[in-house]
Amino acid sequence: MNDDQPHFRLNPGAYGRSLEPSTDPCDACRRPCVWKYAGSLYSTKDPTICARCIADGSVAKLLKGERFSFHDIEIDDAAPALEIELLQRTPGVSCFNPFEWPVLDTKPLAFIGYGEDEVILTDRAAQDAIKAAFEELEWEYEPGTPTPYALVFREIDGDRYRAVIDLD
Ligand SMILES: [Zn+2]
Repeated sequence: MNDDQPHFRLNPGAYGRSLEPSTDPCDACRRPCVWKYAGSLYSTKDPTICARCIADGSVAKLLKGERFSFHDIEIDDAAPALEIELLQRTPGVSCFNPFEWPVLDTKPLAFIGYGEDEVILTDRAAQDAIKAAFEELEWEYEPGTPTPYALVFREIDGDRYRAVIDLD
C-alpha cells in the first residue's frame, strides 16, 4: 500500500473493480488520480475522483455538504461514523439491485467478493454463507458452484460471514 492506494477496510478488493488506473486529474485534489473511481456515485454531480480523496473524506468537501453515497444500499443499525465511512468514504460495490448491507453489532461487514470469485469459491465459510442466504429464499445451492448473484461479506475484526443474494 502507498499513499495513492489507500486501504478500504469495508471494500478491500475495490482496486481493479471500482477503482481503475488513470492519470486523469482528480476534481478534488487536482492531482493525477493514479487510481480513479469508476463505480457509481449517487449524487447530483459527476466528478472525477481519486482513491485518496475517497479515503480521506475530501469528496464530502468537493460536494459541499450534499447528501451523496457511493452505494445503492440500505443500511440499518450501524454506528453513525461507520455508516458514513461506508457510504461516503468507501468505493461502491456494483450490484444488480439495491440491497441491505450486512451489519453485526453496529459494525458494517466488509465486502470480500462475488460468488463467482476464486477466493470465495475456495473459502468454506463463504460457501456456507451463500448456502444459508439461498436457503432463506428457499433455493438450493450446491457449495462450490460459481454464482454471480451472491455478494459475500465478512466481519472486519471477526470470523462471521454473511451473504446477500442479488438477483438481476
Ligand atoms: Zn483526489
